Amino acid sequence: KEERIVVLETENAVLHLKLAEYQGLAGRSTNEVLQLYAAHGQQMKFQRSSVATQLHGAIKKKLKQDLKSLHSFALELLKDFQRQSKTCVYQVLAAVQGIQLQSEAMQMFQIKAFDLEQSLQEVTERYVKEKQKRKALHNSLVELRGNIRVHCRIRPLLPFDDAAGHSQDRQRNFSEKVAYAADDETVLVKCSRPGHASVNKTFQFERVYNDLESQDAVFADVAPLLTSLLDGYNVCIMAYGQTGSGKTYTMLGPQFEGNLAFTIEEESELGIIPRATQEVFRLISEKPPGSYWVEVSVVEVYNNEVFDLLAKDSCGKVFGIKRDVVTTREGKSDVPLLTHETVENASEFLHLVNKGLQLRVTHPTLVHAHSSRSHLVVTLTITTVVFGDNFGTLWEDEQTSQRLNKEASFTFTQKMRDNKSTSSSRASSPVQLEATEKMKQVKTRLQLVDLAGSECVSMSGVTGAALRETSFINRSLSALADVLGAIAEQRVHVPYRNSKLTHLLQDSVGGDAKLLVMLCISPGQKYLTESMQSLGFGTRARQVQRGQVKKKNFPVPTKGK
Ligand code: ADP
Ligand code: MG
Repeated sequence: KEERIVVLETENAVLHLKLAEYQGLAGRSTNEVLQLYAAHGQQMKFQRSSVATQLHGAIKKKLKQDLKSLHSFALELLKDFQRQSKTCVYQVLAAVQGIQLQSEAMQMFQIKAFDLEQSLQEVTERYVKEKQKRKALHNSLVELRGNIRVHCRIRPLLPFDDAAGHSQDRQRNFSEKVAYAADDETVLVKCSRPGHASVNKTFQFERVYNDLESQDAVFADVAPLLTSLLDGYNVCIMAYGQTGSGKTYTMLGPQFEGNLAFTIEEESELGIIPRATQEVFRLISEKPPGSYWVEVSVVEVYNNEVFDLLAKDSCGKVFGIKRDVVTTREGKSDVPLLTHETVENASEFLHLVNKGLQLRVTHPTLVHAHSSRSHLVVTLTITTVVFGDNFGTLWEDEQTSQRLNKEASFTFTQKMRDNKSTSSSRASSPVQLEATEKMKQVKTRLQLVDLAGSECVSMSGVTGAALRETSFINRSLSALADVLGAIAEQRVHVPYRNSKLTHLLQDSVGGDAKLLVMLCISPGQKYLTESMQSLGFGTRARQVQRGQVKKKNFPVPTKGK
């Protein structure tokens, strides 16, 4: 055990030695480690600082480059901007110059416009004056031709002229032509009596149409009267002549023969009535819209009674109703309750006239079988609306203006005040305004008459209805001759009221109204007596204007013997 203890103590000492050795070793290695660690740290530090400088350098370099390019870019931009602003300045300058030029031009234009406006005003004033002058001249022209003028139309010989008349006078050729147009103012009639040398008689009229002259030629002389109509004068155109002499042909056209429905296939064949209506509407179309309107009435004078051919019964059926002719307080002739239809154009008018004409032969109260037994009167009433201040300038002469002023019937309503434009815009003072507020309605009349046949039918042997008919026709035609005679002699009293026919035509026959009598003549020997009678009627009517002087110059035929 002791030995054992000694061994173990020895071992223990050895181990202690070894431990000390190892402890020394461990201390050295720790130092080494620490040294190494320190060295490592230094190295790391060193390493780190070198990367940073490298980076710094790189960044610096890059930054320098960027700055440089930025600088050049900015420079470029600046240059560009300068360039652009320069062009802009040029443009602005050019625009300013342009505006200056334009404003100068504008000023020029304004001056020009002002000048034009002034000259327009002057021209307008002159136009108004010229218009008045034109009306005055037209009227004096019409008056020179005569407020009552007579034209004569000789129709061609027609197949029915051949039919033998009275058999007691065989040696005479009935279809021989005895009435000629010697020239366009003279009618020549060969008057022959058995056993005597034939005598030529001449008659002068404002116009004579030969048998070849067209409806166009006839209407050409009628048209100026329609200008007078729109100038404010009443106009009457009537066809006078024996049955078969061409009155209806002249007034209406061939389609109206027998008063059957017509077709306007042959426009060139239309007579005065349709043509006059067309012309009236054409003239109106040249006027300011809405200032004129047209109404139509169609009447028949039969046995001294007036029948309204446009009247309708409650069912709207056309019905010839008897009407009266009266004289109004203003001294105008008027037919109370007469049907007036407003028409907008010529075809509406023709439609109405045709309706009236059909009734003329079919209605039971109108007993006559032949249209030549009655007078047909187609009336166009033209209403004109005139504002107060324009009114005086519309009619050239004081007289007409005063006459129409008297007729003016109504004053301005609120509605009309709203509608009016030009006259109110010029009004400045209350006095002027007052004047423009007066609005007037003026009526003028165009009466177109197809008279009953003028043949002097012998009353002997005629009885009943035929006798009545004949005596009424004779009376009304002689009343017409009396009226024309009274006007010729400038008598104070004109016997208009002696017959319904003259009473009805009162306003368009005499005074400053224009009357055209269209004498219709059959050229054949057979109708010599009637033709002479018609020519005599025309000659007497014509002296209305020509007075005594002409009476001496031209032979006055005695009434047909
Ligand atoms: P009125 O009305 O005077 O009795 P119409 O006008 O009926 O006479 O005419 C009688 C006939 O003569 C009709 O057949 C008509 O066509 C014809 N006629 C009248 N005038 C002419 C003319 N200028 N040219 C051709 N035919 C005419
Ligand atoms: Mg007839």
